[in-house]
Amino acid sequence: MARPLTQSELENFHSLEWSEIAPCLTPEFRDVLEKVLESQDGSVLSRDQSMLLANAEGDDLLGLLVAANDLRRELTGNLVTYVINRNINFTNICFVGCKFCAFSRGPRESDTYFLNADQVAQKALEATQLGATEVCIQGGLPHGLPPFYYRDILRAVKRAVPFMHIHAFSPMEIMYGIELTGMALADYLSMLRDNGLDTLPGTAAEILDDQVRHVLSRNKLSTSQWVDVIRTAHRCGIRTTSTLMYGHIETPEHWVNQILLLREIQQQTGGFTEFVPLGFVHQNTLLYHQGLARSGPTLAEHLKIHALARILLAGAINNIQVSWVKLNRKLSQLCLHAGANDYGGTLMEENISREAGATAGQYTSPEDFQSLILEAGRIPAERNTTYTRIKIKAPVAELAAEEIPEESMYPEFA
Ligand code: SF4
Repeated sequence: MARPLTQSELENFHSLEWSEIAPCLTPEFRDVLEKVLESQDGSVLSRDQSMLLANAEGDDLLGLLVAANDLRRELTGNLVTYVINRNINFTNICFVGCKFCAFSRGPRESDTYFLNADQVAQKALEATQLGATEVCIQGGLPHGLPPFYYRDILRAVKRAVPFMHIHAFSPMEIMYGIELTGMALADYLSMLRDNGLDTLPGTAAEILDDQVRHVLSRNKLSTSQWVDVIRTAHRCGIRTTSTLMYGHIETPEHWVNQILLLREIQQQTGGFTEFVPLGFVHQNTLLYHQGLARSGPTLAEHLKIHALARILLAGAINNIQVSWVKLNRKLSQLCLHAGANDYGGTLMEENISREAGATAGQYTSPEDFQSLILEAGRIPAERNTTYTRIKIKAPVAELAAEEIPEESMYPEFA
């Protein structure tokens, strides 16, 4: 049995050096971590070795966190990136009924809303005035949505702001679009791409295991449908993010299975821009109140999933994002030390986590991001959605030479 870690050990792991913690690890665990640290490639590990990491406790867990931080430094440098974006949830009416969701409403509830395409475009226009380079558009799934509504939103936004990057529509919404239009998946995605869809959120993944999905939401798309939408999007030239929701009914085995599946897809398509672990916010959800799930992740779980992702995805998906809306200020900074290199977006109007009970707020300004990142001892940098343009938000002259990212890490930076 590994000794339990104290809160203080978990909060201060980042002051440890690999050379200090390595001698305290169990020999097999140390060998596995050294194999990845040397190769900087998560694919050198077997599934059993991945499971060993996912079940880490005590000093082994501290070693996992320290190794993930070292690997992050090697792979992405000391920058922490963020994107200036606006979240637009165009309706809260939804028939799907996910038990972890406190955002959706039935059509007859008193506080429903629905934005038409011009209202969505107006919000995108306002976002440009606040410096946004991306709008992230997702919504509930209302019965009777006009069949080409998603396309019409894209057209309206691109008409109003032609240069805005549109990151929109979860795989669940894509499946609904197919149902509404009767089109084939590849044709539907190509049609959206030709009307302005730039990238797709890899949300609606939660846990990619049909037994778990059946408990979380009986009406959600299946694992194979999620994978099909993502692979087809990548084939159509639409890049996506990838996600995993943790801290509810899942086990470390589900984490490993999902991360390895995402790595395999990435090795085949190269279409993922990043991986985003999403902590379950339990407070206002049926899943928790019906006694089906635990009360969200522990501190150790928050740190472990970011570190595990960094290690298993090394060399395949090198951007690991902290979802600040699910975490408090200090915890989000700790996750940056546990392997993450990106803070996500400013969002401006976050609704989904707030309705579930999260208290991190609806907006983090670029200035807030910069001070959070500097406070964590790292270098803030604004990025575009696909991480191909990076603007360092600290005087470059004051940075040590080794802190300037190599061009291979980011194709363009200024
Ligand atoms: S998570 Fe999305 S699909 Fe599920 S109930 Fe909420 S809005 Fe609907």
